[in-house]
Amino acid sequence: MTEPPNGPEREIPERAAGNANSAASDEFIGGLSSIEEIAAAVRSCTRCGLAGTRINAVPGEGSDSPSILFIGEGPGANEDQQGRPFVGRAGKLLDELLGVVPLLRSDVYITNVVKCRPPENRDPLPEEVRACWPYLEAQISLLKPHVIATLGRHAMNRFLPNTRISDQHGRATVWRDIVIFPLYHPAAALRSTTLRQTLENDIRRLPAAVLQSLEMSAARSQAPSATDAPVTPDTAPSASTKSSVDDEANQNRLF
Ligand code: URA
Ligand code: SF4
Repeated sequence: MTEPPNGPEREIPERAAGNANSAASDEFIGGLSSIEEIAAAVRSCTRCGLAGTRINAVPGEGSDSPSILFIGEGPGANEDQQGRPFVGRAGKLLDELLGVVPLLRSDVYITNVVKCRPPENRDPLPEEVRACWPYLEAQISLLKPHVIATLGRHAMNRFLPNTRISDQHGRATVWRDIVIFPLYHPAAALRSTTLRQTLENDIRRLPAAVLQSLEMSAARSQAPSATDAPVTPDTAPSASTKSSVDDEANQNRLF
């Protein structure tokens, strides 16, 4: 398995390599002003090689002001066929577990790190993640979720590099001014009853993560000077080394 690139917001270049002729430049994507516009750009995107093998791009779906943004790694075969995220068996389990909170799909937004299916469900290549990342950035800026719930270790490592899902699942960590709440991937939970129970327990704690995020925003608006420069992967010194990233995750840990 290919290790994901560490700290994408540090490593993503201004313009993804090889996209000089791309119809959708990074600047164009950054300027998209609605979730529907992003979805339309994704559907006609040719920024990476996955455009050549997809049936349908899968931009994501749900509320346009969600408290929680769920992010998986990439569409599978069912998603590719339908153009919708998490519609296969893993998606059914996700729906069922959201129901225990209770949350509906329409309360949240669900998307993936890459919007087109990697052939044979292989891990996306670093250049595919880089090419697709501006769409996720644009979605995060427009949706302004209180919590980003990553599904699986790959999606988690895009935000919290060099961390382990076994340590991070069900724990809230601040990234920029958003709470990251890593979850096991529902596909992994389909293979293990222990993991399924762990995933359910973690999902039950999502409302507490949203509350923490709201309290953080309230504290920021009351004392802006005290929180003007939150520690982020961008500002943490030598954040690329394992120990400092771990320290940083611990420093920003909410619970
Ligand atoms: N797995 C993912 O990571 N994303 C999907 O959309 C479906 C399955
Ligand atoms: Fe475009 Fe992303 Fe699909 Fe690549 S994976 S073609 S960058 S939408």
